Amino acid sequence: MAKVRCQAVGLLSGGLDSALAAAVLKGQGIEVHAVFIEMPWGCGKSGRVRAVAEELGVPLKVILLGDDYLEILRNPRFGFGSAFNPCIDCHIYMIRQAAGYMRELGAEFVFTGEVLGQRPMSQRFQALQCVEKEAGIPGRLLRPLSAAFLEPTLPEQQGLVDRSRLPAIEGRSRKVQYDLARRLGVTSFAQPGGGCLLTEKHFGARIKDVLSRGCEYIQATAVLGLGRYFRLDERTFVIVGRDERENAKLQSYAVSGDVLFRSETFPGPVALLRGDDSAETLAQAAGLVQYHSKLRGQPPAEVVCWRNGPVSERRTVQAAELAYEQVNGWLI
Ligand code: SF4
Repeated sequence: MAKVRCQAVGLLSGGLDSALAAAVLKGQGIEVHAVFIEMPWGCGKSGRVRAVAEELGVPLKVILLGDDYLEILRNPRFGFGSAFNPCIDCHIYMIRQAAGYMRELGAEFVFTGEVLGQRPMSQRFQALQCVEKEAGIPGRLLRPLSAAFLEPTLPEQQGLVDRSRLPAIEGRSRKVQYDLARRLGVTSFAQPGGGCLLTEKHFGARIKDVLSRGCEYIQATAVLGLGRYFRLDERTFVIVGRDERENAKLQSYAVSGDVLFRSETFPGPVALLRGDDSAETLAQAAGLVQYHSKLRGQPPAEVVCWRNGPVSERRTVQAAELAYEQVNGWLI
C-alpha cells in the first residue's frame, strides 16, 4: 500500500464517478474521507453510498441537507436545470459542506467526481470554474477525473497529487469510467440515472407548491417524494400512498401535527393531511382514501384518523363523496 501523503475530503454520491475519483486518489496514497449529503426525500443512489464507502475502505460522514437549502430552491443564483434542479448552486452548497469538514479534519483539499462535459448545465467548463470560485476554497477543489483539462490545483502544484497519473476523462460517454472501474475493482456503485428527485418535473411542482406557501423546514418536504399529492386549499395538502412501501414511509416521514388516515374496515391506502384540520378537510382526506380503494363510487365509508405525535387519539371520520373532476382538480 502506498504511503499516506495527505488527507482529502471527497463528495461521494453512490454513483460511479465519485467512487472512481476516490479510488484514484486512494491509489496515490491520499487518505480519503468521504462525505455524503443526504436529501430528506431520498435519492436513487443514497442506498448505495455506504456500500461504495465500504468497498473503497474509506470512512463516511453523512450530512443532512440543512434548512438553508430551501433558500437555494426559492432563489438559485445560477438558475434551474430542466426541472426544479438548481445544480450549480447545489454543487456549491455541497462543496461548502465538504470544505467545512476538510477544515475540521485539517485535510488539504476537497475533491468531487465531476467530469468535464458530462452534464449540460453543471459540468460545462464555465460551470466548473464558477463552482470553484463560489465554493470558497481557492485552489483546493480537485476534480481528479478531469483534472488534465483544468488549471492545476494547490495539491497538484505541491506534489501531493501526481497530476500525470490522473485519468483525463471528459464527455458524456462512460466507457472510460467503466474500464477504469474494472481495473480498480470498483463494483458497488449505482447505475447512472434514476437519481435526484429535483430533476423530475412532478416533484419540482410539489416543492414549488409548498415553498410558495412558506415552508421553513427542509425535513417537512420529505413526504413530497411519496404518493399522489392533492392541494385541497391554500393551507392544506393531502398525500395518498400508492403501495405498502409508501404507506409505511408516509407514517415515518410525518411531522408533528400531520393527520394520518387509514381504513380499518376495507383495504385502502394511508393518507397524510397537513394544514387545516376542519371537519370538511378531514372528510375530504378520508374521501381520498376511499376514492383510492375498491370502494370508489360506493356510499361513504368510515376511515380512522389520528394526529401524528406522542399522544395519538384515534377517531373515525365519514368520507366525503368525491367526483373524478374534484379529485383531478386537486392533483399536482
Ligand atoms: S442533480 Fe440534484 S443533487 Fe445533483 S446537483 Fe442537481 S440538484 Fe443537486
